[in-house]
Amino acid sequence: MNYLYGPVPSRRLGVSLGIDLIPHKICSFNCIYCECGPTTKLTIKRDEFKPVNLVIEELNNYLKDKPKLDYITFSGSGEPTLYKKIGTIIDFLQKDYPDYQIALLTNSSLLHKKKVRNQIKKVDLISPSLDSVIKRNFETINRPHSKIKLSQIIEGLIELRKEFDGKIFLEIFIVPNINDSKEELYKFHDIIKEIKPDLVQLNTLDRPGAEDWCTPASKSSLEDTVNIIGKEAEIIGPYLPKKRNTIQPTLKESIISTLKRRPCTVKDLSNIFDLHVNEINRYLRQLEKNYNIKGKEGKRGKFYYLTKEEK
Ligand code: SF4
Repeated sequence: MNYLYGPVPSRRLGVSLGIDLIPHKICSFNCIYCECGPTTKLTIKRDEFKPVNLVIEELNNYLKDKPKLDYITFSGSGEPTLYKKIGTIIDFLQKDYPDYQIALLTNSSLLHKKKVRNQIKKVDLISPSLDSVIKRNFETINRPHSKIKLSQIIEGLIELRKEFDGKIFLEIFIVPNINDSKEELYKFHDIIKEIKPDLVQLNTLDRPGAEDWCTPASKSSLEDTVNIIGKEAEIIGPYLPKKRNTIQPTLKESIISTLKRRPCTVKDLSNIFDLHVNEINRYLRQLEKNYNIKGKEGKRGKFYYLTKEEK
């Protein structure tokens, strides 16, 4: 698959088929915690990075067999709203596959643009990020394109809430000693009241990030954060595997397309593909002959990722 990946187990969305419209690694941010590695092209210029007709063709081929999914999710290795024809794909899914729920994960950087909000407002769920409400911390964590202003992001989120009928799950990624001060959290509390999301989800480092010095927040610090932010906040829990009827092109291809986009432990892959860890290990050994698969130690064990597609 060229534009789709997974389905992957998402801590937020259950079993989610990913749509990746942005080449690795184009983004409007260069977050210190990014699991896709450092941004190589920092931009706010929207483009049709991949031909929209080919994306639609691949979706058609995949969805015609009616796989069981919790969501079809715009996500992947860069900011999905940078794809200027995202609205065409959303319209296609709603018209031809209305039974599927659509989600969008966004870093919120383009939400101040009315045109972008109009394109995305037909999805069922938007999970926008807002990692800081203090300029210097926002710049430390997200390292945005120079034209992106924190005030515009907050205004965009407030406007989105006014215009969008679906669910908004606001995500805050907590980085110890940067955005977890009392000063910041009380500001968050006030701004969240203006944004009015359905839910606030607190996330922290789970896979190796772009910077080794970025570490996970402790459970107790996340619990303190929930107490300040309010009852609509929750800590994103570990994924609970679900049984599913996924149609994979081939298992090897699916493992590669997953590792291409996010580092995974053997246990993660075992949950995604419903296979015993020994079997996953066996596939990894086979795949290592043709692909550059590397391992990096992380908090949950060794994370495998793809450095280059073909050896
Ligand atoms: S975490 Fe998301 S917004 Fe941040 S650099 Fe990575 S892809 Fe871009």
